[in-house]
Amino acid sequence: MQVDQDREILNTIDRMRGEITEFLAELVKAKSVNPPGDTRDVIEIIREKLAASGLKVKTISVDDDKPNIVARLEADRPRKKLELLFNSHVDTVPVGEAQRWKHEPFSAEVTDGRMYGRGVADAKGSVASMVMSAKALVESGVELGGTLVLNPVSDEEVGGFKGAKYVLESGEIHPDQVVVGEITTNRIAIAEKGIVWFKITTEGRTAHASTPWDGINAIDKMIDLLKEINNKVVTQLRLRRHPLTPPPSLNIGLITGGVKTNVVADRCEVMIDRRILPNETIEGATREIQDVIDYMKSRDPEFRANMEVTLTGSPIETSPDSHIVKVAQDVCRSRGMPDEPVGYLQASDGRFYAEKGIPTILLGPGLAELAHAPDEWISLEEVVEATKIYSLIATRVLK
Ligand SMILES: [Zn+2]
Repeated sequence: MQVDQDREILNTIDRMRGEITEFLAELVKAKSVNPPGDTRDVIEIIREKLAASGLKVKTISVDDDKPNIVARLEADRPRKKLELLFNSHVDTVPVGEAQRWKHEPFSAEVTDGRMYGRGVADAKGSVASMVMSAKALVESGVELGGTLVLNPVSDEEVGGFKGAKYVLESGEIHPDQVVVGEITTNRIAIAEKGIVWFKITTEGRTAHASTPWDGINAIDKMIDLLKEINNKVVTQLRLRRHPLTPPPSLNIGLITGGVKTNVVADRCEVMIDRRILPNETIEGATREIQDVIDYMKSRDPEFRANMEVTLTGSPIETSPDSHIVKVAQDVCRSRGMPDEPVGYLQASDGRFYAEKGIPTILLGPGLAELAHAPDEWISLEEVVEATKIYSLIATRVLK
């Protein structure tokens, strides 16, 4: 029976090819660059499509110009209380240097099976596929045993706090399993690095530069500290690895301090960006830096510094044995696609679900390398394939 049902869904999607392309083009033409992140036009196009397809659609938002959709495809007779979430984002990064684009960024030009435009891959290709997969399920007359929730969101490119995070905490959704539509060339991604930002300030005592021994130079103290962070932390990071993600990292991104050339600086501040592996923790990474500060204090009675964590984002590590991964692998195999899980190179909204322990995968059409670059493009065949994969995942999870 599943074979018949699969065939019906796949045929329905093949008949929708023209509509899928047209819908994706509409999404690209509805400019939604972030900042400023006004997504009202693109969200309205999606809302109409979902409502016309028979889903119960709601929009919720923190800011009026950054709406998020929660659309439900419910079972007539639910066999179990199970919610599968399809999340992806509708905001895009800015165009960048316009003169480096050969294709107009918002005209959705199609050449040789590729559509060009800002956001066509990241992540409007995923959004179009997810929306059309729900429509295909309705048109194929599939009866789901649980609820499929579609959740196109705003705000992802600047942190997701008014998008995915807000929706998850609003109580509107209660996902048991999540598929985040991101640019993985339809591979199943189950791991992503996390992020911690540190602001460290050293304090000294001001004096005239002709008699610096009367003061304590906060910049000198910062240099000592950064050398020690390099010795004690950076050298350790070189030894750490995760099979699916790039290596961990530590970048000193900003440094400020002092007031004048001829004055001993009484203050110096640095901002550090630390990317953690899925098998590291935010607390562990914070403790490592704090330990170096404490070590400096124990060695040098004049060393005064404090540290603040200004931003955190959890890593993602979904068990390869979890149900959603197994189902996605089964579907990819049935489509003749590679089924070996991979890591995701960028940061995504998936971390909000992973943080709450909800099994999450990232999967969607498009190449990560092209995402924020000029002449961003997507293969239209890959978008159709993603539509099929999403539909089949939904029928298997919600059977
Ligand atoms: Zn994205």
